[in-house]
Amino acid sequence: MSTRTADAVIVGAGVLGASVASHLARSGHRVLVLERGAPGREGSGTTAGNLHMQAVHTKRPGQAVPLDSARFLPLQRAASDRWETLEEELETSVEVRRTGGFTIAETEEQYQELRDKHGWEAAAGIHTEILDGDAARAALPLLGPTVAAATWCDLDGYANPLKVTPAYLDSATRHGGRTVAFAPVRRITRNGDGWRVVAGRGAAERVVDTPVVVDVAGPWLGEIAAMAGITLRMTPVAIQMHATVRSSATMSHLVQHIGEGLSVKQVTAGNLLIGGGWPALSMDLAGRSDASLDSLVGNVALAVRVLPFIRDLRLLRMWAGPLAATPDEMPVIGEVPGAPGFYVAGGTYAFTFAPLWGETLRCLIEGKPPPVDVSDLGPGRLMEQWSQEDNGPEQENHQDRRSKRC
Ligand SMILES: Cc1cc2nc3c(=O)[nH]c(=O)nc-3n(C[C@H](O)[C@H](O)[C@H](O)COP(=O)(O)OP(=O)(O)OC[C@H]3O[C@@H](n4cnc5c(N)ncnc54)[C@H](O)[C@@H]3O)c2cc1C
Repeated sequence: MSTRTADAVIVGAGVLGASVASHLARSGHRVLVLERGAPGREGSGTTAGNLHMQAVHTKRPGQAVPLDSARFLPLQRAASDRWETLEEELETSVEVRRTGGFTIAETEEQYQELRDKHGWEAAAGIHTEILDGDAARAALPLLGPTVAAATWCDLDGYANPLKVTPAYLDSATRHGGRTVAFAPVRRITRNGDGWRVVAGRGAAERVVDTPVVVDVAGPWLGEIAAMAGITLRMTPVAIQMHATVRSSATMSHLVQHIGEGLSVKQVTAGNLLIGGGWPALSMDLAGRSDASLDSLVGNVALAVRVLPFIRDLRLLRMWAGPLAATPDEMPVIGEVPGAPGFYVAGGTYAFTFAPLWGETLRCLIEGKPPPVDVSDLGPGRLMEQWSQEDNGPEQENHQDRRSKRC
């Protein structure tokens, strides 16, 4: 088996792998994407595809640590700008719909949460408007009587996840990149100043030498890092989605809940997609995770309470998909301390962040300042040998030394 070379090997062809492949290929790098199965079939093929620009509810059902909205929002703002120009950049439609969204509250406590998040959003440059229940129903008459207040954000939206990942991979291919499907990475070893990556078996085995490995394997991120001797604390989680049958155009906005797990929108094809991070029954990282009937009932009942018209729609299907959560629920992105040339990116809401993280990884790999400050989001905080306060040995991690903005 001959050994090939690449400027960067990207492990995983989900939306993050596809985005970074496109960004690097367009910048002149010879990239090779290695994918265990078919591209875009795991988290990136089962996702709700919401573009979350106003603050999300800080805890999906079952989540232990709340999300730090004040830190998250400037990243959402930067991600929003990239979605604005994505279709032009990829030279195709991926059904990006920026038709705005409501986040609703049903209790006085949740109403206060809306006011708090409104302040953080203003500080991050995200314009939101607070509406009382009647004003919210006047703006969206489909909302039910339990809605006590809402925030409106005209940046919220969604995109078709089944189009985004393939469009990024096509863009990479047009610029000389290669994607190899059904090529599971099995071994990663240090090779001089770079890395040797081995994928597939027997006649299909590939050996590639490269200075840069990008581990964007979603829930398998820790497993891939472990092949290179790196221990990263990530928690794979499986959550589920529910889809109704197609109906005529009824609702053009995204609707979310500030205190409970709920997101609802009508997609271009006419189906309503109902989600909000409800846990699947079980997770199967080797196959398909099982969906939970309890989560189905809880999620759909909540959707019907907030948007009563859903009661009249038949449920078409439900599915579960995996994602990778960090212990602090914040994204992870950057070069691994002590492992030059080994980069990782992942975490929840990686669909929203895919355009931003693709660009950010390209900047980091090229030694340029990234478009947003990610110095506190590096993988050092997930490594067992360092404490939360210590982001790893400074001399090995170039990320912190770079200036804060592109
Ligand atoms: C049901 C659900 C709803 C969601 N809703 C939203 C939402 O509305 N908005 C939002 O922003 N985010 C949402 N998310 C989260 C978001 O979709 C994910 O964070 C994102 O898709 C993850 O992308 P990824 O590229 O990091 O990982 P993945 O898409 O999981 O891709 C990782 C890839 O790595 C591959 N891989 C694994 N092991 C190997 C190996 N050994 N060799 C080669 N390849 C390997 C896998 O096969 C996989 O294709 C949702 C997730 C789920 C599951």
